[in-house]
Amino acid sequence: MSDAYDVIIIGGGPAGLTAGMYCARARLKTLLLEKAFTGGQIVNTERVENYPGFPDGISGFDLGMLMQQQAQKYGLQIVYAEVSSINNKSNYEKIVDTNEGSFVAKSLIIAGGAEHNHLDVPGEQEFVGRGVSYCATCDGAFYKDQDVAIVGGGDSAVVEAIALTRFASKVYLIHRRDALRASKIVQEQALSNPKIEFVWDTVVLAIEGDAKIEDLKISNVKTQKQTTLKVAAVFVSVGLHPNTAFVKDIVSLDKGGYIIANEKMETGVDGIYTAGDIRLNSVRQVIAAAGDGATAALNAERYLLES
Ligand code: NAP
Repeated sequence: MSDAYDVIIIGGGPAGLTAGMYCARARLKTLLLEKAFTGGQIVNTERVENYPGFPDGISGFDLGMLMQQQAQKYGLQIVYAEVSSINNKSNYEKIVDTNEGSFVAKSLIIAGGAEHNHLDVPGEQEFVGRGVSYCATCDGAFYKDQDVAIVGGGDSAVVEAIALTRFASKVYLIHRRDALRASKIVQEQALSNPKIEFVWDTVVLAIEGDAKIEDLKISNVKTQKQTTLKVAAVFVSVGLHPNTAFVKDIVSLDKGGYIIANEKMETGVDGIYTAGDIRLNSVRQVIAAAGDGATAALNAERYLLES
């Protein structure tokens, strides 16, 4: 157990990085494991306008990098590795297996976030990287002066539709209902943007093309009328699902796969905490994820004091 960490945090989004900062400042030996890139989903967000302290907004990428720098300044270690399983050997011995080896900790904070949902229609997989994208901020600039589509009616889709108008000649926003889920202020911006054409009550049937996307087959769910849009790209922004496959036998999950936790971020398993979008009833906001991370870290610290 000499190599054991006090805390291992799984996931490097706002929840994990905030937990990391709190644990490191508490002088706990803390490791954060991240499978892809730190910053979490916000790195794909063009502008975060509702994180307190940034009255003019801040790019999601910059906010993520600032959180990482702040945590590392206090000694947080970060290893890029994908977790495959967890073995809860005893109260103060948790083994985390990854593609980079195994790590041991006295406590865990699971903050693995959520991943993009897919449309699961013909052509979606085939055209990933050739017109199908899950990140308008990353790929929007490739489609300068071309017509593109974005699917979804939540904050992500609507914010990204607005961002895409900087490049595209026209943005079709395809939503399966006739009312957006996105917050009102974002809706107002999109509805008044002349480059965005709303395609209501509509689902995507197939994405077609040759070397790259050419046609988007869509269907109106009220009239059943099928039509084709000529677009160069389809951005899929239809929500998220939690990354909990590796903990399903350790902690309790709801039917959607989200981790059930109390207000202390306790999962019900001694020494295992959670934080952020991966937990049930998260409001899925950066500020809330950061708050969860702080709560989880402070309660992990208290747990370790009893060891
Ligand atoms: P979301 O709020 O869950 O919205 C997903 C959208 O996709 C909904 O409009 C949903 O339609 C639609 N959808 C789901 N499955 C679909 C399918 N199979 N086919 C077609 N449409 C489908 O997800 P999100 O927009 O990614 O946002 C996630 C969270 O992050 C939210 O809490 C959001 O507020 C937050 N967020 C905040 C900001 C910000 O504060 N600036 C920016 C981005 C995201 P229905 O409406 O019919 O269910």
